[in-house]
Amino acid sequence: MEYISTRGNVGRIGFIDAFMMGLGDDGGLLVPREIPVVSAETLQKWQDLSYQELVLAIFALYTNGEIPEEDLRELVYASYDTFRDPAVTPVRKLKDDLYLLELFHGPTFAFKDIALQFMGQLYTYVAGKQNRKIHILGATSGDTGASAIEGVKGKKGIKICILHPHGKVSKVQELQMTTVQEDNVLNLSVDGNFDDCQRMIKELFADLDFKASHHLAAINSINFVRIMAQTVYYFYAYFQVAKETGAKEVSFSVPTGNFGDIFAGYLAKRMGLPVGKLILATNENNILERFVLEGVYKPGDFRTTYSPSMDIQVASNFERYLYYVLGEDPAQIRTLMEQFKQTGEISIAGDALSKVQEEFGAHGVQGQECLTTIKQYEAATGYLLDPHSACGVAAADKYSGERTITVSLATAHPAKFNEAIELVGIEQQFPEQISALFEKPQRQTRVDGSLQSIVRELEAFYS
Ligand SMILES: *Cc1c(COP(=O)(O)O)cnc(C)c1O
Repeated sequence: MEYISTRGNVGRIGFIDAFMMGLGDDGGLLVPREIPVVSAETLQKWQDLSYQELVLAIFALYTNGEIPEEDLRELVYASYDTFRDPAVTPVRKLKDDLYLLELFHGPTFAFKDIALQFMGQLYTYVAGKQNRKIHILGATSGDTGASAIEGVKGKKGIKICILHPHGKVSKVQELQMTTVQEDNVLNLSVDGNFDDCQRMIKELFADLDFKASHHLAAINSINFVRIMAQTVYYFYAYFQVAKETGAKEVSFSVPTGNFGDIFAGYLAKRMGLPVGKLILATNENNILERFVLEGVYKPGDFRTTYSPSMDIQVASNFERYLYYVLGEDPAQIRTLMEQFKQTGEISIAGDALSKVQEEFGAHGVQGQECLTTIKQYEAATGYLLDPHSACGVAAADKYSGERTITVSLATAHPAKFNEAIELVGIEQQFPEQISALFEKPQRQTRVDGSLQSIVRELEAFYS
């Protein structure tokens, strides 16, 4: 498998090079040159694999044999060893036509662990094999930062700097990031919101001299490896639900921010998984809902919500989807992205919009609806949803008339977002790993929201 850029100006590159490049050198996003398609026969063979073995089967389609099989096996098993559930991503029945895919059993209690624990292993592997320095730089709305830090803290040859929006992440998210004491970790608490952090990161990665001289590597979902790792649980969930119910097709409801997770579902569908609708759940930051319903992609005003990990207006991975839905034409993507830069808006209509609406449903969940969903499901089933997972479930319910059996992605453990749970009037028991965080000292540096200040911090840290 070779990788190319959505904007057409990166030559074909291999898997490790794509992993290390992160954002395409031409400002586009890297995608596989051709999406591998899996036959019905292969799907049949995969249905009884353990999570780890399924990871290996799917990664084999993307890694070109660039990592010797035994090494890859070790990396994959080490990545999921730290998970608290033997199934890694277990599926639970919530009601007759609605299942939950629990993605929060990793070390930081959110779905980001699934891709990032593997990426941490892979960065460490590449640093060792190629004897090179790797300086990870990322922005987080809360969960990516904690998970990426967990994956590489104390690892030789690696430094990691994470920008998070000051005061706009949950208390537990902040503690998970900032109570890590290893010296290869720098947390910058930035005045601004997540979009500001992500924009600055993209600018730094687009400055190829800065990127090369500081050995920068990306952990945000601009990195294709994250998407690849996230396709696995769509397959895994489909197999579990198909076996239990005999369903031939399954829909997925996905709490969405940066369009990474749901894009992985789209990719799984393109690979041949029988996926019905992909239901895109947002909170009040609903640019993507408006895109699906109206064909207009235009950031609105930033809103602070109960689901901070989805407080995103400019969705990085959207460009990947646009590339596919418009027929894999890099020239058109270059024009559209340039236009977006100039006018702050992209519109599509006609056949392209019909295609979007055939593949996706969308629902923007307002704050009160999110809290009500948490409360109602807790009362009816005893299951406590976190506010992100609740958005997914509310969106699935909205589409209950026109979908098949649906798997709604449970992207975080409720203990990470007790602010919202308290508002519902529910008292929850924290897992011990989370309670322990409140006793630990924090390390972080507050910076104003200018690129200049961030560059100054980075130059000191990466030197
Ligand atoms: C990151 C995150 C999301 C959104 O995922 P995207 O890939 O950015 O769309 C949803 N829920 C939680 C808990 C998250 O951490």
